[in-house]
Amino acid sequence: MAYPVTLIYGDGSGPEVVAAARKVVEATGVAIDWQVAEAGAAMIEKYGAPLPEETKASIRKTGIALKGPIATPIGTGFRSVNVEMRKTFDLYANMRPVKTYAGVDGKFSGIDLVVVRENTEDLYAGIERMVDEDTAESIKLFTRKGCERITRFAFDFAVREGRKKVTCVHKANIMKCTDGMFLDIAREIAKDYPTIEFDDSIVDAMCMRLVMFPEKYDVLLCPNLYGDIVSDLCAGLVGGLGMGPSANIGVDGAIFEPIHGSAPDIAGQNKINPTACILSASLMLAHLGEAKASAQVEQAVAKVLAEGKVRTQDLGGTATTEEFANAVVAAM
Ligand code: NAD
Repeated sequence: MAYPVTLIYGDGSGPEVVAAARKVVEATGVAIDWQVAEAGAAMIEKYGAPLPEETKASIRKTGIALKGPIATPIGTGFRSVNVEMRKTFDLYANMRPVKTYAGVDGKFSGIDLVVVRENTEDLYAGIERMVDEDTAESIKLFTRKGCERITRFAFDFAVREGRKKVTCVHKANIMKCTDGMFLDIAREIAKDYPTIEFDDSIVDAMCMRLVMFPEKYDVLLCPNLYGDIVSDLCAGLVGGLGMGPSANIGVDGAIFEPIHGSAPDIAGQNKINPTACILSASLMLAHLGEAKASAQVEQAVAKVLAEGKVRTQDLGGTATTEEFANAVVAAM
């Protein structure tokens, strides 16, 4: 029987990367019943909201979505659709693998780490207001439940994937209540996982260490804001945003998407790098229990990148989005 999966093409360059990922998934032979749903700014006119009820209902039914990036207006306008999805489906764990692939020019080799980012709390809870005309306030919200479940997710993931170390990233020296609680809970839960090494780092020092010796890190456990920033920094270590896949895992579903935005500057030009979206689809296949197909996709991407004959412009090549996807299919 085919797996039902909600497919959201997204804004800007989203449709191009999602089409590429869909083609690659279909080439694995795993049967997927794609249920195309819509989200984004254009939906406001059609449905009155950027995340229509129909789309939420589809994800509720399938429990799984593959999505392209969705544009969010800066400063004003509607709240991020991504944040709303994470809250609606309680997608509390954002998992972002960061890996060096042979053939991708970067300053480093041997990076193989995973950023595990808390996805629903912190400054992203959206509790902010203008106190008066000249004073703005945003609440940094951490709950014990939120800290505990993301920490357990990180350790369980480390055990499942045969990883060695979890590093808790925080700023507990300054934010003693919020980050202090996050660190205390991580230290406590670490005791339940004696086979996994545990350490911690203040976020600013972590950034320095990551650009000096990223190969030393394994699983980074981060609150929402630091996880967002650190994972883009990490993407920069391995070839840029086009190389960063992600999974949002939660109580009521799982959504897989590239970490990059809608790249409006290159939208519609068939030149965006679809690797991040293809690797997100590989994570989705693993989540569906299709480990062989998931590995097949990742290995094909690695092969095409290593050969270096078909490369998109961000990686110094001339290939189109479609040509890259076709090369991955051929490599499978
Ligand atoms: P962006 O990631 O869209 O683009 C930043 C730069 O990187 C651009 O020059 C772009 O062309 C380039 N780039 C990004 N992905 C690439 C790829 N795969 N291949 C080649 N080049 C790539 O970031 P932005 O410009 O800050 O954001 C644009 C919009 O996307 C905003 O509205 C933002 O809110 C939204 N956004 C959405 C998501 C999401 O849906 N998960 C994530 C981040 C940003």
